[in-house]
Amino acid sequence: MATLKELFGSMVFNDCEMRQRLPKETYKALKKTIDEGAPLDISVANVVANAMKEWAIEKGATHFTHWFQPMTGITAEKHDCFISPMNDGRILLEFSGSELVRGEPDASSFPSGGIRATFEARGYTVWDPTSAAFVKGTTLYIPTAFCSYTGEALDLKTPLLRSMGALSKQAVRILRLFGNDTVKSVKSTCGPEQEYFLIDKDMYLKRKDLIYTGRTLFGNKPPKGQEMEDQYFTSIKSRVAAFMEELNAELWKLGVLAKTEHNEVAPAQHEIAPVFTSTNIAADHNQLTMELLQRIAKKYDMICLLHEKPFEGINGSGKHNNWSLATDTGVNLLDPGKTPHDNAQFLLFLTAVIKAVDEYQDLLRASVASAANDHRLGANEAPPAIVSVFLGEELTAIVDAITNGTSYDASPRTMMQIGVDVLPPFPKDATDRNRTSPFAFTGNKFEFRMVGSSMSISEANVAINTAVAEALREFADRLEKAEDFQAELQALIRETLKKHKRIIFNGNGYDEEWVAEAEKRGLLNLRTTADAVPYLISEKNIRLMATHGVFTETEIRARYEVSLEKYCKTLSIEALTMLDMAKKDILPAVSAYAKELAETLSAKKAVSGEVDASFETELLTEISALTATLHGNVKALEKAVEAAEAVPEIGERSMAFKDTVIPAMEALRETADKLELITAKKYWPFPTYGDLLFSVI
Ligand code: ADP
Ligand code: MG
Repeated sequence: MATLKELFGSMVFNDCEMRQRLPKETYKALKKTIDEGAPLDISVANVVANAMKEWAIEKGATHFTHWFQPMTGITAEKHDCFISPMNDGRILLEFSGSELVRGEPDASSFPSGGIRATFEARGYTVWDPTSAAFVKGTTLYIPTAFCSYTGEALDLKTPLLRSMGALSKQAVRILRLFGNDTVKSVKSTCGPEQEYFLIDKDMYLKRKDLIYTGRTLFGNKPPKGQEMEDQYFTSIKSRVAAFMEELNAELWKLGVLAKTEHNEVAPAQHEIAPVFTSTNIAADHNQLTMELLQRIAKKYDMICLLHEKPFEGINGSGKHNNWSLATDTGVNLLDPGKTPHDNAQFLLFLTAVIKAVDEYQDLLRASVASAANDHRLGANEAPPAIVSVFLGEELTAIVDAITNGTSYDASPRTMMQIGVDVLPPFPKDATDRNRTSPFAFTGNKFEFRMVGSSMSISEANVAINTAVAEALREFADRLEKAEDFQAELQALIRETLKKHKRIIFNGNGYDEEWVAEAEKRGLLNLRTTADAVPYLISEKNIRLMATHGVFTETEIRARYEVSLEKYCKTLSIEALTMLDMAKKDILPAVSAYAKELAETLSAKKAVSGEVDASFETELLTEISALTATLHGNVKALEKAVEAAEAVPEIGERSMAFKDTVIPAMEALRETADKLELITAKKYWPFPTYGDLLFSVI
């Protein structure tokens, strides 16, 4: 068996392969493109393509595909065979530079948010050489960006790359001010921790709601849930362990740095985390991870649920987006450092993040908005829908000292001097005690915890990168003009922290008191997607995206459309699935049970006459009342969906879904769940929460 070292990256056309297989000059030219974004000459692309093809064929590939990430949030691919016919009936295996660099898939079947309607249906995929090509199955995968004929981004990768470029540009300006002339670029780094549920495949197949919507639309909490806290970090069951072993091996082959895995808080919930890497690669790798999680689970007769809230009353799943900034020389800019110089630079970057999160709370919230994620954010679960920053005691004390103009320790100095004083060392572990904060500083990085488990990490990182780029741009503009850099730096940090301190919150984000307190501080509480997404197209956010070349106004409006369309469609599918299950499964099942009860009752009556106080009588009365209510709930939901669907404007339509369809769904569920509790097990038409959550043994 291959060792881990041999396995790792064995299916990736990585730097090591390129160096070995490409002529020196070609390799150098390609590296320049990868590292500095220099345009690639077609003659170079031809040589790269040929080497890539030879390598892929050795790995068993027969096809190649441009692999891209349309606005559906999942990946897309169209496979082409390498074959090209010769005159004598044989074939050649061909792959040209132009096939490597550019593809032309039909864009008309992907969401475009109206962009497509006004332009041609054609779309282009453009090679992203910063993310390595790989072989999966019998296909060579080439990571690409996807855009329209006229150059508008139609995918999640293009804006991510643009936002990374914007951030790099501004961060380098700041580093120059600190006398750093060597750094050429700064990358945002990301390590997404992925949560998921595993349930038995046979159970899954018996539930239409799981099949159509990825979550349960009916069901009561089982007698035992997560209250015993006996699942977190427990030893992993053998079926799950075998699955994880295969998953890891497959991920390693593809160069994904899968590192940590453990059981999560809820029964049947697990987590996998990679070692962090640059954000666009992390985004590609996370997509591969989600795909393999689902595919490999099936081999073990399990289904992997990536939905943000598959079970009501049980913890949902998120994706903790660990985020930081790294220079091309390998320095983490959110690492405090040991000298006053390093500390001053760290404090400036930290201040930029605090300002960015406060000014663009709305954008951050909107970047993680979906019907599914609304069940986590804004519901009774951490993190809340209110965006705030957790700094931990030590850093908060420093921020207080800076803003109050005092010393942060008991020493006689009166004021904290940035660039002169050294920060006290703050232990990394002590900073991560708060698990309820949406945006937590964890020693040398931030952890954005609002991202949903099924989402691409791209949109969240576009929002963070661009907001931070803007803060750094403002800082650089001011500091570049300063006559006395140190004095200006001190003033800038102080003023900025004073202004944005309201976003810092170290308490329990779960608490009802925080909601009131946050409102007092003027922080936004955007509970649903319908409330949050319209902020994407506020004047402020359109300006931000345009300033940094991340989105044109047309593009951001397209994202707005696509997000809300998806919200309405998701809710519509959920409502229709509920109606189907209620009408075709629940009502007939309960009715059959009622019939049995009635028959028992009349049999008893025939024997003993008086049976009014029997349990059958009571139960029948209760069941009749509830089925009558359920019937009414069905009618009400049908009406609500129909009315919401008929609203022409997308913003108003999503409000209609939120205000009328969701409450009607909740009412229907409430009645059905009551019926589940009193209907005999043999009649209930699908597996219960208990069956699902404890199905994998
Ligand atoms: P936990 O949050 O579970 O305590 P860690 O803090 O060690 O675990 O790491 C969580 C994730 O954060 C991992 O994926 C790790 O690679 C990632 N991470 C660590 N440092 C950075 C960084 N500088 N930038 C981005 N992600 C990072
Ligand atoms: Mg973590």
